[in-house]
Amino acid sequence: MANRKAKPAIQEFPLIRGLAGRFAHAVPGLVRGIGDDAAVVEPTSRTWWHVTTDLLAEGIHFNFKSAAPESVGYRAAMANLSDLAAMGATPRYLLVSLAIPKTLKSSDIFKVYSGLMNACGRDGVALIGGDTSASKAGLFLNITLIGTTPTRRALFRHGAQVDDLIYVTGTLGDSLAGLRLLMPLHRAHRSSKNRLALLASHQRFLIDRHLHPTARVSEGQWLNQKRLATSAIDLSDGLSGDLRHLCEASQVGAEVELEKLPISAACQAYGKAAGRSPVQLALSGGEDYELLFTAAPGSRSTIEQQARARGYRVTCIGTIRSKRFGIRMSSGGKRQLLPVTSYEHFH
Ligand code: ADP
Ligand code: MG
Repeated sequence: MANRKAKPAIQEFPLIRGLAGRFAHAVPGLVRGIGDDAAVVEPTSRTWWHVTTDLLAEGIHFNFKSAAPESVGYRAAMANLSDLAAMGATPRYLLVSLAIPKTLKSSDIFKVYSGLMNACGRDGVALIGGDTSASKAGLFLNITLIGTTPTRRALFRHGAQVDDLIYVTGTLGDSLAGLRLLMPLHRAHRSSKNRLALLASHQRFLIDRHLHPTARVSEGQWLNQKRLATSAIDLSDGLSGDLRHLCEASQVGAEVELEKLPISAACQAYGKAAGRSPVQLALSGGEDYELLFTAAPGSRSTIEQQARARGYRVTCIGTIRSKRFGIRMSSGGKRQLLPVTSYEHFH
């Protein structure tokens, strides 16, 4: 090959050294971070480790045409932080593996890491390793996060009981509305027909909810430490699908009261302007990274009081029913089956 000797744009070891120098730091419990054949961590006694990993592929999960490298890194980290939030865990260690196409420069990778570490910074997570390869088909970004809880203390999907209350944090559907606002097709549609007369502040709010979601890490820790939730899952694919996962794990059914779904004023306004049902956005929209959790009916006042005192938004949206009841939505006294309209791969 003619250019076999040409220097590649990115060199593996200088890149790793650069990333380590810039983004890795010492933290208690870390014996050896980046630079050996494996990271070494000294676990404290009586802790459970929660390990989660996510693979993001360019063109499937993100696109550099519509998202800046920082935002790709930020959202990738948030997806993982949200998984730990749903377990009630404290995020501690991060590993990042990359397959990098020729089209990217070192500076692009540094920007991805800036976004990653920015998302993790708040929680004091340490970068302790990863792997680096070339790619012939876009960037692949794999993130592994390790978090901890005290032993035998975690939120699982499988603890929901019949008659438990179903809660969500925050508001639902914002991220999907924000994504739609970002889509070029939609912008063209807006300018041509001027149907989407939406306040700039609402647009900014929704787009920001899509590009800079916040994993509910402290809410998850609160629910776990105070033993307030019987089960939990994070809303990454969308309420209709994620509720089903929780119900399957718990062997129960559920009833969601559509009038109770927390929908932001911005999402309401978007729905109106775009001719879309805000309730549908709330049921099917993914990547809100809110928590869905269940709680015994007797915990209601404690949960709502403590949430208010801490500044957390929680809304009771329904009740756990028997498995035979199925998963239903009710509105105006009418009940019908809740179809899964949230995101699934390969569909
Ligand atoms: P190996 O050949 O054993 O896979 P590497 O040379 O790939 O080792 O990695 C050397 C060190 O650099 C290890 O500590 C590894 O965890 C770390 N590392 C490699 N790639 C990355 C990356 N993209 N981000 C962070 N750390 C990395
Ligand atoms: Mg390696």
